[in-house]
Amino acid sequence: MYNAKAYSAVSGTSPLASTTIPRRDPNEYDVQIEILFCGICHSDLHSARNEWTGTVYPIVPGHEIVGRVTAVGSGVTKFKPGDVAAVGCMVDSDGTCPQCKEGLEQFCPNVILTYNSADKHLGGVTYGGYSDSVVVDERFVLRVPANLDLAATAPLLCAGITTYSPLRHWGITSGKKVGVVGIGGLGHMGVKLAHAFGAHVVAFTTSPHKKEDALSLGADEVVVSRNNDEMQKHAGSFDFILDTVSADHDINAYLNLLARDGNITLVGGPPMPLSVAAFSLIVGRHSLSGSNIGGIAETQEMLDFCGEHNITSDVEVIPIQKVNEAYERLLKSDVKYRFSIDMASLKSE
Ligand code: NAP
Ligand code: ZN
Repeated sequence: MYNAKAYSAVSGTSPLASTTIPRRDPNEYDVQIEILFCGICHSDLHSARNEWTGTVYPIVPGHEIVGRVTAVGSGVTKFKPGDVAAVGCMVDSDGTCPQCKEGLEQFCPNVILTYNSADKHLGGVTYGGYSDSVVVDERFVLRVPANLDLAATAPLLCAGITTYSPLRHWGITSGKKVGVVGIGGLGHMGVKLAHAFGAHVVAFTTSPHKKEDALSLGADEVVVSRNNDEMQKHAGSFDFILDTVSADHDINAYLNLLARDGNITLVGGPPMPLSVAAFSLIVGRHSLSGSNIGGIAETQEMLDFCGEHNITSDVEVIPIQKVNEAYERLLKSDVKYRFSIDMASLKSE
C-alpha cells in the first residue's frame, strides 16, 4: 500500500480539498497509472453532493482518466510501463455473470465503479481519478489511439461511451433523424458521434448562445427548446432522441417530437423523478428507455472509432485547485464543453 495525492469532499456540503488516500501496490494483474488528465462529469457533482443518495465520505470523484503506466503486475500482458492508458467508470466486475459474459459489465450485479463502490482490496470505498495515481485490473484498462490529444480524450471515457453506446444500440446510421437534448459534456459528444454515424442531427439547448457551437460540433439544426414554435416545427419527426439533461425538465415536450415507434433514451440522471404523460407514449407507440455507460469492449471500440475519425471532446483544461469553481460553472452550463483537470497541478499540493 502507498499514499496517493487526491482531492476529496468530506460531506455533501463541503468543497473538494487536498488530501492523501491509500492505493494498493499492483497485484499480479494490476496496472498502476500516473494520472495525467481527468474529466469532470456531472455525475461527479451529483455524487460529491449526495444528490443521488448513498455517497460514502470522503469521496474522491473522477471517472474519465487518462495517464501513463508506471508499473504492472507479473501477469499483465496488455500494458507495460510508459504506455498511455485510460480508465472509465468501472474498475472491476465478477466476470462470470451473464452480463459480463456478454461484455455488458456495467450491468453486472457485482460491478465495482471507479469511485464510491466497495473496495475489495483495501476495504472502504474505491477512490476515483481526482488523484495522481490509480491501480486497476488490466481487464478494465483501455488503450488510447496515438493520434488523440490526451486532455481531450479523458472525457471520452464517460461522456464518449455513454453517448456512443445508445446510438449504436438503437442503430443510428445515415437516414435517421436524431435529437440530442442538452449540449453539455455528454450532449456535445452525442452530437459529434451521431454526426459521425451519418445521422441528421438536431441539437436541443436551453442556452441560445450555444447555437453556433452546436452547428460546428456537427448538428444540422439547432432548436432553442424554450421556444415552443421552434419545437413544434419538429413534431412527430424523430427516429431517436438522446436526453442528456442533468436536471428536472419536461420529457413530454420531447416525446411528442418522436415519429411512430420512435424512442427517447435517457442518459441524464436528474435526481428527481420525471413525469410522463401516458398519451405521449401511447400516441405513436413511442418508447422511453435508459442507458448506462457501456461495456469495456464497446468502450475500446468507441476509443478506436474516435481515433479513426479524429474525434475528441472540446475541453477547458484547469488545474485541480479550480475544481470547486468548475462545479459552480458546470451548474450554470458555463463550460465548453468539458472540464479536464491537468493532474500535474496536484504535484504542488
Ligand atoms: P453537463 O455538462 O452539466 O450537461 C448537462 C446539460 O443539460 C447542460 O449543459 C444543459 O444544456 C442541460 N441542462 C442543465 N440544466 C437544465 C435544465 N434545468 N433544464 C434543461 N436543460 C438543462 O452534464 P453531463 O456531464 O453531460 O451529464 C449529464 C447528465 O448525465 C448528468 O445527470 C449525469 O449524471 C448523467 N450521466 C449519466 C451517465 C449514464 O451512464 N447514464 C453517464 C454520465 C453522466 P443546455 O445548456 O444545452 O440546455
Ligand atoms: Zn460520468
